[in-house]
Amino acid sequence: MAATKKMLGIYGPGSTHWVGDGFPVRNLFPSNGIEKEIDPFLMLDYAGPMDFKPSNRPHGVGEHPHRGFETVTIAYQGAVEHRDSSGNSGTIYPGDVQWMTAASGVVHEEMHEREFAQKGGPFEMIQLWVNLPKAHKMSKPRYQALQKEQIPAVELGAGGYARIIAGELNGVQGPAKTFTPVNLFDVRLKAGSEAELNLPAGHNAGIVLLRGDVVVNGSQALQGEAKLALLSADGERVSLAAKQDSILLVLSGEPINEPVASYGPFVMNTEEELVQAVEDYRAGKMGHLN
Ligand code: MN
Repeated sequence: MAATKKMLGIYGPGSTHWVGDGFPVRNLFPSNGIEKEIDPFLMLDYAGPMDFKPSNRPHGVGEHPHRGFETVTIAYQGAVEHRDSSGNSGTIYPGDVQWMTAASGVVHEEMHEREFAQKGGPFEMIQLWVNLPKAHKMSKPRYQALQKEQIPAVELGAGGYARIIAGELNGVQGPAKTFTPVNLFDVRLKAGSEAELNLPAGHNAGIVLLRGDVVVNGSQALQGEAKLALLSADGERVSLAAKQDSILLVLSGEPINEPVASYGPFVMNTEEELVQAVEDYRAGKMGHLN
């Protein structure tokens, strides 16, 4: 029988702040100081859930750059419109995922969709930053619009299921193309459902609880809202037993194990590369929005 991934700790938000005027986020990392244990993931912001009042001017975050990694946005409630300097644009609705590879650099904006903004209502998103290995930090930007219908689900019993956004579970493959091995599963459990997940040995891993009450590995209570259970790279097995209906995001990935130098929206390997990124952005080399 495969060994269990051990629980390294349970974390609440290390920081709570607004991103622009559209994303009231609770940050689970890097604010908790677990950079090494969660490599290749760099950042996770959980926005909302929050009710937005109707507004003729969409809320969000205006033109800003990224270089050296990928931004992955998972929509739970509400809708977000994206536009970037490499010519890609799209709107994500509940169940959709946007996987944007900034790599050598893009400038983009992330706004509440106009119709959603006008109507107002509950808004809930996660944005996850996935690091790129040195060899791909200066690759061409890429944009993957993963629609709800493209994301396959694995039944977990008693009405529970996992939607496979990236990677593989029980032989079911997710649609996202990744640069290093990454699993990303949107997991929904019903009260009373029990699930066993197999995550690769050697992958760093975490389970984000959006809300609910789950017992991890038979003994650890993961309950409430906006919590992260950090798991060991050793072992493969994780068991989940839901005491209430629960929404979870399961992530695992092979650590990149390279130096990380970060400055706001730029994540590179050295200070020199950060200086270069700022210069390139100021010189317009990451492009502009039309
Ligand atoms: Mn951004």
